[in-house]
Amino acid sequence: MKGRVIKSTGSWYVVQTEDGIKNARLRGKFKQEDLKLTNPIAVGDQVLLENEGDHESTVIADILPRENYIIRKSTRKAHHSHIIASNIDQAFLIVTLRSPRTSLGFIDRFLVSTESFRIPASIIVNKMDLEYKEKDLDFLQDIHDIYETLGYPVFEISALEDNSFEYELSDLLQGKTTLLSGHSGVGKSTLLNKLIPSARQTTKEISKFSSKGVHTTTFAEMFELENGGYLIDTPGIKEFGILDIDDYELSHYFVEMRKYLGQCKYNNCKHLNEPGCVILDKLEEGYIHPYRYESYVNILHEEDDHR
Ligand code: GDP
Repeated sequence: MKGRVIKSTGSWYVVQTEDGIKNARLRGKFKQEDLKLTNPIAVGDQVLLENEGDHESTVIADILPRENYIIRKSTRKAHHSHIIASNIDQAFLIVTLRSPRTSLGFIDRFLVSTESFRIPASIIVNKMDLEYKEKDLDFLQDIHDIYETLGYPVFEISALEDNSFEYELSDLLQGKTTLLSGHSGVGKSTLLNKLIPSARQTTKEISKFSSKGVHTTTFAEMFELENGGYLIDTPGIKEFGILDIDDYELSHYFVEMRKYLGQCKYNNCKHLNEPGCVILDKLEEGYIHPYRYESYVNILHEEDDHR
């Protein structure tokens, strides 16, 4: 029987099937299959279930190939990675202009990570019911200008007060598996609970669990939308890992740089100070936004520090 993993506790899994929800364990052999992963099965995985033994216990017998997945690196040295979720159609990054104030660098890091996982991304600016100073509104305008030009949709919402966004977002969400992401405090739970009122209880249960010291925070959870589709919540996860990429690969995950890379005369160009580098030319000519280039350089150096 085929099914989709909607929740993982680390030792057992909740799987949605045509016959309803099943709790399943993993058949032993999985654990040894890929030593680089600390968890062989993640939320979003399409799996095959079998009944085992006389006790009618259900096991995950096989996993279907993943279309994509996001990871978190557990310990950089050991190169152990934790799969957070898989088979994701799109990612929503929820940000706020104030309390907390987001940064373009943070947004860019997120977009590099979704590009590297091949997941389309949108930016959702929440708490738009609050009053903002002019400099905050200028910042909002920058977010629109920079990211919409690059093809990343930007939405303004108020998860707390506004109901109209539900119509705007629900078209986008329908039938898709959408990952919700964002710093704590931006209103992710408020939005989730508004879109899926039944999610409220589960969210509470998770926090009750974690206060007892049980390590649940790194497990994503999937919630079904009324009109079809799923939301994936990633409680406690601030940032996803960027897949192991070489320096010269980073520019592939900046969409505006990617299109010029074929014209660069260097093979492994880092686009820092190489004479005649096409990216530096395009930056000079205004085709690449200086903030985006700044993020590029910062990420390049941060990744170097981690090696
Ligand atoms: P999370 O940590 O991202 O899950 O954030 P929460 O959903 O717990 O929200 C953090 C705080 O921001 C709470 O006090 C919410 O009531 C508040 N909040 C969430 N959305 C909005 C919004 O659209 N407008 C305003 N003014 N406050 C909001």
